[in-house]
Amino acid sequence: MRRGTGHSGGYRRWELTKIRVMPVRKVAKIEYRPLILLHDAMRLILTDHPNKVDDDILRLCAQVCASSAPRWVQIVPRLGAIPNKCIFNAKHEEGEGRGICIVGWKVLTWPRVLAQFVGHALVVKGDRLTCVTPDTRGSNQLLFLRDDSIDFDSSDPMARMPTRYMPFDTDAAISRLIEVQEQIHSIKAAYPPTSVTIALSTAETWRIERFEAQIPEIIRDIALRKLQNDDRCVCDSGLSFGQCCRLAMLGRGRK
Ligand SMILES: [Zn+2]
Repeated sequence: MRRGTGHSGGYRRWELTKIRVMPVRKVAKIEYRPLILLHDAMRLILTDHPNKVDDDILRLCAQVCASSAPRWVQIVPRLGAIPNKCIFNAKHEEGEGRGICIVGWKVLTWPRVLAQFVGHALVVKGDRLTCVTPDTRGSNQLLFLRDDSIDFDSSDPMARMPTRYMPFDTDAAISRLIEVQEQIHSIKAAYPPTSVTIALSTAETWRIERFEAQIPEIIRDIALRKLQNDDRCVCDSGLSFGQCCRLAMLGRGRK
């Protein structure tokens, strides 16, 4: 922790210290939201495409849909496809005769903590599955668990693809995080999914804010106990947890 020794070296070290503080502010920012909420805020920034299928993922997939196994699927966005409108995009593809629209779950994970199963539609032709919807994370593949039991009426404009969270183990804080996410989701789900943004009433916004205000502390609790230093940081900085928010989180705990 030597600062100011040498010229550029010392300065850079100081800069790094400053950068460490920023992601915590970013997490803390979840506590304040304007009246207009992004649909995408339902998505936990903590989950991402897994890079391999391990036993934990297989176990949760079997719990969600016992009759199928997860498969890697290439993402090849159809020209003009709309992000977050997978049913629309897949149905359009089907209409053009380039396959059949099927539904299932896109599997995202927060390693060591939980998996998020997001209802997703894609196209099957022969034995080949293809996702024709651009990925909001810019990935070119996703892990897909086919599940024909997902009931989704694509003709109903109010219909929404479901999301499920499954914990990797029985941890009280992880259960609490899932509960809070589901509460927030159920409030937002009452509003029509017409566009990227939805306008909520002030009362609903307050309810959501009360739930969201709990999230940073729950995440801090989970991260400090479950994450290892080289895991991806919870703030989505792309840095490892040990190099990013870990020290700042420990610092907050000492106050
Ligand atoms: Zn961080």
